[in-house]
Amino acid sequence: MISCIGSSSLILQPIKFHKPFLNPSNFFIKTPITRTLICRAESSETNNPNKRNPLKGKEPYRKYPRRSKYGTSRRSILKKTLNQEQLNFTTPISDDPVVAIIGGGMSGLICALNLEKRGIKSTVFDTGVHGLGGRMGTRIIDPQPLVFEHAAQFFTVSDSRFAELVDRWLDKGLVRQWDGTIGELEVGGQFTPSTSSAPRYVGVKGMRALADSILSQTSMVNVVRPCWISKIEAFNGRWYLSENGKPQGQFDAIVIAHNGKCANRLLGTSGLPMIAKQMKALNLSAVWALLAAFEDPLPIPFEGAFVKGVDSLSWMGNNTNKLFPSQSSGPQCWTFFSTADFGKRNKVPQENIPNATAERVKEAMIEGVETALGVPKGSLQKPFYTRVQLWGAALPTNTPGIPCIFDAQGRAGICGDWLLGSSLEAAALSGMGLANHIADYLQSGGSSPDEFSVGLHQEFQPIEGYDIGQFPSVETKEQVTEPLACVK
Ligand SMILES: Cc1cc2nc3c(=O)[nH]c(=O)nc-3n(C[C@H](O)[C@H](O)[C@H](O)COP(=O)(O)OP(=O)(O)OC[C@H]3O[C@@H](n4cnc5c(N)ncnc54)[C@H](O)[C@@H]3O)c2cc1C
Repeated sequence: MISCIGSSSLILQPIKFHKPFLNPSNFFIKTPITRTLICRAESSETNNPNKRNPLKGKEPYRKYPRRSKYGTSRRSILKKTLNQEQLNFTTPISDDPVVAIIGGGMSGLICALNLEKRGIKSTVFDTGVHGLGGRMGTRIIDPQPLVFEHAAQFFTVSDSRFAELVDRWLDKGLVRQWDGTIGELEVGGQFTPSTSSAPRYVGVKGMRALADSILSQTSMVNVVRPCWISKIEAFNGRWYLSENGKPQGQFDAIVIAHNGKCANRLLGTSGLPMIAKQMKALNLSAVWALLAAFEDPLPIPFEGAFVKGVDSLSWMGNNTNKLFPSQSSGPQCWTFFSTADFGKRNKVPQENIPNATAERVKEAMIEGVETALGVPKGSLQKPFYTRVQLWGAALPTNTPGIPCIFDAQGRAGICGDWLLGSSLEAAALSGMGLANHIADYLQSGGSSPDEFSVGLHQEFQPIEGYDIGQFPSVETKEQVTEPLACVK
C-alpha cells in the first residue's frame, strides 16, 4: 500500500524552456528567462513513483503523463486493474474543496446539485454532444421535428427524498404526470392495462430537457461538455483529469458517475483497485432501440406497453401522444426496445454498427411489433423514418444495493443507477447519497478515512424488473382483456 505526501520533498531542477509550459498549480506560465530553478514537490502519491510520477524523467515539466494506453486488450486491462496499488491521500483537505464528477446523467447531476446544497463546488464532465442526461436521451430530428425518447420513457417515485425533488420539478414545470394508458401486451394483441394509480412522470419537453435543467439554478457547479475524460491521475494530494492528453483541471475528490467499459478503463490504472473491482462486478444488459415515425397514427389504443413473449420486443411507446397530447395531426413517433436476450445475441460495437446488422435488427423488431399486436406480417404501416441504436451498456442486472461506494483513502466515489437498482429514481438516490457522504467526509477534515470508506466489499444481488428498468408501482390487472380488435 502506498502512503504519501507526508514525505514530500522539494527538488531543485534547472530547466531550459523557451516557450510556455505547464505546471501543476498554474495552467500556463511563461518562462521569461531561459535558465530558471523550479521547486517542485515530489510525492509518492502515484502508484509507482519511479514510473508514473508525471514530473519525473527527462522532460522537466509535463503537467500530465503521456496519453493513456487505451486500446490495450481486455485481459491486460483486467490484469492492471487487479494488480494496481491502492492510493492513500494524506494531505489535509482544502478549505474550499472542488469535486470532479465524471458523468452528467441523472446520478451525476443530482450528485452535483446535492454537493452544492452542502456548500461544495463541483465540475460535471459529460460526453454529451447534444446535451446532458446520458440515458435520459431525447432525440429530435429536424426539420419537422420528430421527437423520440431514446432511452428512459417515464419514471415512478417510491422514495420520499426523490418525491421532494420531483415536486420541485413539477412546480418549475420541468416534469408532468403522464396519464396515458399503459400496460402489458402479450403476443397476439392481448393488452392488459395497468391498474396502478401511482403517478408516472415524464419530462415536459422530454427527458433530455429535464436533465439540462437540473443544474440551471446552481452557482457552484461548472459543467464541461462535450468532454470525454480519458485519464484520472493522483498527484500531490489532488486528482488530475485529462481528455486525450488535454488537461481538464485538478480536484480534491472524484466521482465516477458512469459505468461499463469506459469506467472500467478509466479505473484500470487509477490507484483505486477496490473501486475498480466493484465496478467490474457489475453486469449490464444490451438493448436495441428502434425509433420509427409513421405518417398516420397507428390504430393502437395505448401510449405504452411492456411486451411479453416476443423475443425482439420488450417495450413500445408512443412519444407523440405522450409528449404532445394536444397535437391532433402530423406524424407519430414511436420508440421500440428489444428484450435484453435479443440485445445480447445481436450485440455489435455500438459505435460502429454494420449496416447489415442494423437492417436485420430493424426488420426483426418491426416483425416483433406485428407479432405483439397480432397483425399479419408485413401489414404494419411502413415508417417513413427509422433509426436503430444499440444501448450496449443498457441496464444493470445486478446491484450492491447501497446508495454509493466511496474509497476515502483514494478520495473517490461511485454513483449510478446500478448501486440501487435500474431506474431514474435509483440513479437520483445514488447521486444524493454519494453527495452527502462526500460532503460529510470533506467536512470532517479527512483525518479518519477508515470511517468513511463504504461499499468497497459489498456483495451484489440480481436485479428484478422489466428489460427497461424497474417501475415498482406499475402493475396490471389480473384478467386479460380482449385482443386489440382495432389493429387487426
Ligand atoms: C433503453 C433504456 C430504457 C430505459 N427506460 C427507463 C425508463 O423508462 N424509466 C426509468 O426510470 N429508467 C429507464 N432506464 C434506465 C435509466 O435511463 C437509467 O437508470 C439512468 O438514466 C441512469 O443514470 P446514470 O446517471 O446512472 O447513468 P447515465 O445516464 O448512463 O449517465 C452517465 C453519463 O456519463 C457520461 N460518461 C461516460 N463516460 C464518460 C467519461 N469518460 N467522461 C465524461 N462523461 C462520461 C455518459 O455519456 C453519460 O452521459 C432505461 C435505460 C435504457 C438503456
